[in-house]
Amino acid sequence: MMFSAFCPTHDSTILMTRRNVIGFANTEHGPVLQWRCNCGQEGVLGRHGSTAAAAVTPQPSAA
Ligand SMILES: [Zn+2]
Repeated sequence: MMFSAFCPTHDSTILMTRRNVIGFANTEHGPVLQWRCNCGQEGVLGRHGSTAAAAVTPQPSAA
């Protein structure tokens, strides 16, 4: 399993393997993969691409 995610610390897209996967989570937007870059940056990878952990903000729900 290999995937790429944007790492803001590297400021580029990093190719990762399952060794970088630290878990999965279900969000209101669907399941996401939680990753940790070699540099220690963590983030999530969902259907719509990668998002750095620091950039994840709760989306206000109209419901
Ligand atoms: Zn990195």
